[in-house]
Amino acid sequence: MPRLLLFDIDGTLLDTGGAGGASLLDAMEEIFNVRRQDMPPLNLAGATDGGVVRELFTQVGRVMEPEAVQRYMDTYLGHLERRLAHADFPGVLMPGIEILLQTLVADGRADIGLLTGNVRRGAHMKLERFGLHPHFVDGAFGDDAEDRNLLGPVAMQRMSQKTGRQYAATDVIVIGDTPKDIACAHAIGARCLAVGTGHFKADSLRPHSPWLCLEDLSDTASVRDVLLS
Ligand SMILES: [Mg+2]
Repeated sequence: MPRLLLFDIDGTLLDTGGAGGASLLDAMEEIFNVRRQDMPPLNLAGATDGGVVRELFTQVGRVMEPEAVQRYMDTYLGHLERRLAHADFPGVLMPGIEILLQTLVADGRADIGLLTGNVRRGAHMKLERFGLHPHFVDGAFGDDAEDRNLLGPVAMQRMSQKTGRQYAATDVIVIGDTPKDIACAHAIGARCLAVGTGHFKADSLRPHSPWLCLEDLSDTASVRDVLLS
């Protein structure tokens, strides 16, 4: 069976330096005429965009009508595009990510996809900002489900459609930075390589029983070996 690697984005591949969360609040201010300083802090770690939108709409007492949600997401994505293109964009790639992805793609033993709470367009924007988008075949996104635990089967099915290969859950490794990434791997019987580059340090991820836990992904040869062997 071929190996399937499913990468989370925020906190795992990159950090937008707050541009993602700020764009969500920009859209709230624009659409609902509220002030960001009056909103409770967002809990974004491991969340899906759909889950965040539900939380935000609930906080301002709005019903999640499809047109309102669509308008909110379009506004959010407009602000995200603007912030990602800004000269002072504070985002960074996590240590070793660029060379690791190049190494995995060149090796060819694994198919590489995404399992992210970002909606597809937002995921593409963030990856494109760093030139990472060509490395990923397809995946599951925040548009597919509010519950991250439902995204694994979607990612496996989409990747199969694109590559023509079938994947067993035991051949899937989810790479992510939060307890929710670990849980969504467990939900499909897959392994999780947890990485302490996001909101959670490695020591606080280990109690959630990932298959493996690393401080970061900078040791390219070692990470390649654990992901491909
Ligand atoms: Mg993350």
